[in-house]
Amino acid sequence: LGGTSLLAVVTDQRGEVLGVEEERTLVEKGNPEPIIRQVASVVRRVCKKAKLKVADLEAVGIGAAGAVDPKTGIVHLAPNLGWTDVPLGHELEKALKVDVFIDNDVTVAMVGEHEQGAAKRAQSAIAIWVGTGIGGGLVLKGKLHRGGRGCAGEIGHTVMVFDGPLCGCGRRGCVEALASRTAMERDVRAAIEAGQQSVVTEIMEETGKTRMTSSVIEKALAANDAVVVEVLNKAQRILGSLVANLVNTLDPEVVVIGGGLAERLEDRFVGPIRETAYQEFIQKNACEKVRIVASKLGDRAGAVGAAFVAMSRS
Ligand SMILES: [Zn+2]
Repeated sequence: LGGTSLLAVVTDQRGEVLGVEEERTLVEKGNPEPIIRQVASVVRRVCKKAKLKVADLEAVGIGAAGAVDPKTGIVHLAPNLGWTDVPLGHELEKALKVDVFIDNDVTVAMVGEHEQGAAKRAQSAIAIWVGTGIGGGLVLKGKLHRGGRGCAGEIGHTVMVFDGPLCGCGRRGCVEALASRTAMERDVRAAIEAGQQSVVTEIMEETGKTRMTSSVIEKALAANDAVVVEVLNKAQRILGSLVANLVNTLDPEVVVIGGGLAERLEDRFVGPIRETAYQEFIQKNACEKVRIVASKLGDRAGAVGAAFVAMSRS
């Protein structure tokens, strides 16, 4: 469940996908009702596609973007959905009459990649999802690492520039405020306002987009747009440094980079991140042993992972 779209899968116990449904999220500021109804209806429809009934499901798992309490199923703060303290788990259990487990969106994406994707069979892995914000997930000793209070993985709020741009979390200079798609859009707009030539405004008008989405970035790169190239390079340098910091701390087997840009640009997005990271590893020996790769499951990573989380908790 994201601020832009909602993707549901039904899987069997091995995680084999039996049906998929996707639609745009009906975000209505301050009112969670339409989205809760929408999630319930998507669950019903995806079951139908898989020729099942909701009652046949063992459980439902949901990854929501934001601060989520997996124990209570409450979404405490989800800026993209405009939510504070929404008892999503409870409301959906009432509507669907099946156990519902809520988790953070990148946590479930990490689980998806670990079970079936780029981090399969890894004993240690890090997931970094770059989108509107930047989220993270950790696998240590072969298991999802939630930390002492269940808050581990806030990789996007690593401060990289003191007194840098303000972040949504209230601090300054977090990697999210420097290298998320939102931050890239801010930098591109600033460059255009300062008089630099860019095709971004034109592409957005042509495609009817109000935000600089991954597809807008892809089109601008195809047109060799100097502003976008520069802004993207800067974001990749910062992300590469972030990966190096994390690898220097945890020495994982694999770092999975996901989100719209990784999906669309694949190694054009991940390659420069990997290069910077390798340069900044403290232990240079066998750099390539740390795999730094794009997500394998793409936009399904979260939904497939949410199914695995639901199965493990039910
Ligand atoms: Zn922050």
